[in-house]
Amino acid sequence: SSSRSALIIIGTGMAGIGLARALRRQGDTRAITLISADSGDDYSKPLLSTGFAKRLTPSQLAQHDARDVAEALNAELLTHTQVVQLHVDKQCVELSNGQQLHYDDLVLATGAAPRTPFSVPESVAKRCFTVNDLDEYRRFYAALGPTPTRVAIVGAGLVGCEFANDLHAGGHYVTLIAPESTPLQRLLPEPLGQALANAFQEAGIQLALGHNLQTLALDADNALSLCLDNGDRYAADIALLATGLAPRTQLAESAGLAVTQRGIVVDRQLRTSQPNIFALGDVACVEGVNAMYVQPLQASVKALASTLAGNPTSVSFGAWPVIVKTPLLPLVAYPPATTPAQWRIEGEGSELTAIAENKDGRLIGFALTGSCVRRKVELSRVAPALLG
Ligand code: FAD
Repeated sequence: SSSRSALIIIGTGMAGIGLARALRRQGDTRAITLISADSGDDYSKPLLSTGFAKRLTPSQLAQHDARDVAEALNAELLTHTQVVQLHVDKQCVELSNGQQLHYDDLVLATGAAPRTPFSVPESVAKRCFTVNDLDEYRRFYAALGPTPTRVAIVGAGLVGCEFANDLHAGGHYVTLIAPESTPLQRLLPEPLGQALANAFQEAGIQLALGHNLQTLALDADNALSLCLDNGDRYAADIALLATGLAPRTQLAESAGLAVTQRGIVVDRQLRTSQPNIFALGDVACVEGVNAMYVQPLQASVKALASTLAGNPTSVSFGAWPVIVKTPLLPLVAYPPATTPAQWRIEGEGSELTAIAENKDGRLIGFALTGSCVRRKVELSRVAPALLG
């Protein structure tokens, strides 16, 4: 019976902790071991890019510490513990200390790791940060200190733009550097990206868009100097690298499970190519879709909890738009899955509605700025599902 079987969950982000919580909530009594490379504290990752405006300390962001999490879930929790290998034949995971743990079912909830497309010289490594979990937030928070700091943010995607807005609101001097000519190019058509750029610039965020970062070095004043491919130089105290995330697929891949660049390949039941190994959250690619945000993750948690309880359940994702946390210009986007035949753009200034249409004139995505964000519900209703 399920009470004797052993479940191992690798990862204690929203996916890992969320799944353990859902299982307990439905009365599952099996032995659960949660393994985390980080502190194992329960925190909301989306809040990391809102903390500086609200002057939140790292400990205020940790909703529960690791011991409370383990106790509430009646689970074994191994923190600061890396899983280094999966042995699918023996059904065990190998930890960095050499210990091997047996599982009946295994869940990979290992998330995605920051990816830096250039190398950071040793001489400036101590000044360069990524903020993708609470431990990293703690280090970045300490480096910023209590006084206004010059921060160069490299990358103008979701994470870069949210931190630009948030650090600016927290009183820091922000320079946003990215090769694209407008921010959030994966989510917004050019005029809406330009509206965000204008809002940032008017607020006093310095923009350095349209050029690649070429070198990172320390200048004569011991400041960080960021040189772009057009020769422009920007000085900063520290840099935040927000140049993208890559699903952590290495464990799965070296165990021979099917993976792609977009994540561990799973079916609608979140099953990998090994029948008793599942994956969900930022690391999983469900029938070609790796959404990397909370709503699909939560739908996956629900479906997998049912499946593990012996009630095989397929997940589906609705037309769930992304809400970008840039209070300087509210933004909502539901990017089209395929290149649209056209973007139809209405409105003026910072109040814009953009509708992506296919060649038959059907709405396949949208993006909204300013007060137009209130059209989110109406447009989501007619948009195709992310994974129907
Ligand atoms: P993670 O939280 O990354 O957890 C991965 C876990 O796996 C960690 O515990 C890690 O230690 C562990 N791990 C990895 N490898 C190993 C190993 N080998 N051994 C042991 N443990 C391992 N989404 C939204 O919907 N709305 C938002 O507003 C939003 N804002 C965001 C803001 C920021 C700054 C960021 C970075 C993301 C944001 N997202 C947002 C995305 C959302 O937070 C993520 O989709 C979600 O948190 C992913 O959770 P996860 O559990 O899959 O991965």
